[in-house]
Amino acid sequence: MTSEMMEDRNGVCHVVESEVDVQRQTKAQPQANNNRPNWSNGQCVVSVPSYSTLNPSFDLSLCRAKLENDGFQIPVADMEVPLKTALDVPSVRRYMVFNSALFHFIMAPVLYVVVWCAVFSTLHLYITVSDYWVLCLSVSLVSIFLTTAIIFILHHSNKEINMNIDIRLIQVNERMVKHKLLVAVADWVQNCTGNMQLYFVYWDMSRCLRALTETLEERSFVANDTQNKLKRKMSHLVLVTEVPAVDPEVGGSGGSDAEDQDSDEQRPLLGQEDTDGSTSTSQREDTKLTANYSLVPDVSLPAQAKAYQLLMTYSAAYVKLLVSERLSGPSHHRMRPRRNHCTTAPLCLCQYIKKKLLQ
Ligand SMILES: [Zn+2]
Repeated sequence: MTSEMMEDRNGVCHVVESEVDVQRQTKAQPQANNNRPNWSNGQCVVSVPSYSTLNPSFDLSLCRAKLENDGFQIPVADMEVPLKTALDVPSVRRYMVFNSALFHFIMAPVLYVVVWCAVFSTLHLYITVSDYWVLCLSVSLVSIFLTTAIIFILHHSNKEINMNIDIRLIQVNERMVKHKLLVAVADWVQNCTGNMQLYFVYWDMSRCLRALTETLEERSFVANDTQNKLKRKMSHLVLVTEVPAVDPEVGGSGGSDAEDQDSDEQRPLLGQEDTDGSTSTSQREDTKLTANYSLVPDVSLPAQAKAYQLLMTYSAAYVKLLVSERLSGPSHHRMRPRRNHCTTAPLCLCQYIKKKLLQ
C-alpha cells in the first residue's frame, strides 16, 4: 500500500518538475523509497576509509554521493560542516595518527626491544650470573609480560569512550540522528595494515529513547543514587571550551551552578578588556579564558532529556564498538529481541548505556 502511494506521489512530482529533474529523480527516488524502509538499526549504510594512515581524513563528497544513492538526503549544514569541525582539525588528525591501531601495532615490537634493553641493563648492574642465557631468558620473560600488560591496557582503553574523537562527534550525531543515522570513526589492524574508516550506521533513536526514559523514570525513587552513579562514571567526560568574550550566556548547558558563578565572576573583566581595542587581542591570545562543562546530565532535567543526552554522548563510542564487533553482550541464542533494538549486535545503544552507567 505505502509503496504504491509513494510511487503515485512521485508520479505527480515528476509531472510538475522539469525534464532534467525528472531524469535525476527517476534514478534516485525509486531506490530511496524502496531501500529506506528496509534499513534496520545497526546496519552500516556507508563506510569510507581514510586517505592514508598518516592523513586520517575522509572523502565526504563520496559519503554524500553514497548516502544520496541510498535515499538519505542530508543538508550540508547537518553533515559536512559539523564533521569538518569535529575531525578536520590538525591536532585531532595528529591524535588520530598516534592513537591508531596501526601505530600501536608498530609500537609493540619497539616497546619490547626498549623494555628488554632497560630490564637487561638494570639487572646486569645488580646481578652477576655466569650463565648469560639464564639472564637473557628471564629478561625476555619479564619484557614479554610488561609489553603484553601495556598492550592490554591500550587495547582496553580503545574500547572506552574517546574524549578526542567520540566526544567531538556528539555534535555531528545530534544533527545526523534527525536523518536516522549515526556517525563514528573506527579503526583496527587487519592483515598488518591499518583500517581506519568513517561509518554511517542506520539508527532510529525513538525506541532506545523510550526505553532509556522508562528506565530512568523507574529509577526516579532512587534519583540521588542514579545521579551519583552517573557522576562517578562520567566524571572524566569534561568539555573544555573557550569562553566567548562578548556573550557570557552561550553554552550554559551542563555546567553546575558553582562553575557558572565562578566563570560569571571572571567573564566581564576579560570581556571589557577585549572590547577595549582590537590591537591588544593578539597579545592576549594565549590567555584565553576556558570553561569546563561536565557531560553528566543535570539533575533537574526531565527523564527524557537526560536519556537523550546520554544516548547522544555515547552514540559515537557505541557505533565504533558495533562496527568493529567489540560489543560484549549475551550470546546470540540468549538474546532478548524484545529489549534489543539493534538487529546486528548483541547489545543495543540503550542497553549499552544501562550496562555502562546504571548497573
Ligand atoms: Zn535500544
